[in-house]
Amino acid sequence: MTTLAEKKHMSRVAELGCAVCRRMGYEGTPAELHHPRALAGGWGRSSHMDVIPLCPEHHRGATGLHGLGTKGFPKRWGFTELDLLEDVRGLLG
Ligand SMILES: [Zn+2]
Repeated sequence: MTTLAEKKHMSRVAELGCAVCRRMGYEGTPAELHHPRALAGGWGRSSHMDVIPLCPEHHRGATGLHGLGTKGFPKRWGFTELDLLEDVRGLLG
């Protein structure tokens, strides 16, 4: 189930553009939504309020979260997916 509030939140997050590109100074890269695994609370629990916007490369590509994994990603970039989530929360207020 996705509530209306979650849908609204997710579209606002997507409109921010990729959070990794943003940290490199490129705002507004078209993004898809990543659901952080660290926060996934078990079967069927919604984490739609914790989504992170990532472009296809930084989501599923060789330099992305899924490509590098949760350990490789911070090594490569110097920040974690939770740091990116904090960015998103800060931007949305
Ligand atoms: Zn990106």
